[in-house]
Amino acid sequence: MEESKKNCDFCGKNYLNSTAEDSFGRLERTLSYTAANTFKYDRWHTLIVSRNHDTLHLTEDEIGDMFELAKEWFHKANSIEPTYTCPEMIWDAMPKSGASQMHTHLQVSLGFDIYYGNIERIRQGARFYAQINNGRNYFNDYLYIHQALGLTIPIGNVYIIAHLTPIKDLEVMIIGEKLEKDFYKALHLIFRTFVDDLNEYSFSFGMHLPPMNESTSNGHELPVSCRLVFRNPVTNLRADMNGLDLYTSSVIGKDRYVLYQQLKEGVTKRHK
Ligand SMILES: [Zn+2]
Repeated sequence: MEESKKNCDFCGKNYLNSTAEDSFGRLERTLSYTAANTFKYDRWHTLIVSRNHDTLHLTEDEIGDMFELAKEWFHKANSIEPTYTCPEMIWDAMPKSGASQMHTHLQVSLGFDIYYGNIERIRQGARFYAQINNGRNYFNDYLYIHQALGLTIPIGNVYIIAHLTPIKDLEVMIIGEKLEKDFYKALHLIFRTFVDDLNEYSFSFGMHLPPMNESTSNGHELPVSCRLVFRNPVTNLRADMNGLDLYTSSVIGKDRYVLYQQLKEGVTKRHK
């Protein structure tokens, strides 16, 4: 981490010369800024870069600032092209996760009418679930069943879930109606527990927000939801996923209640 700070394009004021701007310019906040990606993966795609290089030690404010900036960028892009409505984000930290830059950066994109496949499949599944269950909301029921099983930790208006269907052992979810301060608090508590207590140093993160043109009068069909998996062991050359995980079914070796207990302890001692 220290070594990578030396010639970092995103640190200090370097970014003003070393990164491009979006067509509508650069958005800046006190703790983060946007930079147009050289390798855009969609028409509306940008980087949200923290002013803190070290992804593993971000403060709650630094985390919140990036997501507030992401929301500003979504609104800006949507105001220019209102047919683009589906907000998505990914975040990789450390080489083990596939991150190309060490410096803290989120990638955000705004999809045209539909989300990317993995998210769209969940959305379509949720619609099918509602169809065969008298209109019940899939995400609400997903949360209820985990509450009944004792696998959720409430943080204000959002829930951390040690869910039963993780992609890999160390995956957790956060679900809430809105992307707001409780979300940032929950994320910060998860980072501190994994990094400081469990010595896990690399993660991949994916998040989607409700469509921007959706009426909220009946609640959201899709809530704000993120999944976050810690990749390990961070220094091990061997990959953490193999053919079984990729093509059959995720192989989970860690008891969800053991993970839940570790999370609960880490969160409780930091969040009174
Ligand atoms: Zn940096």
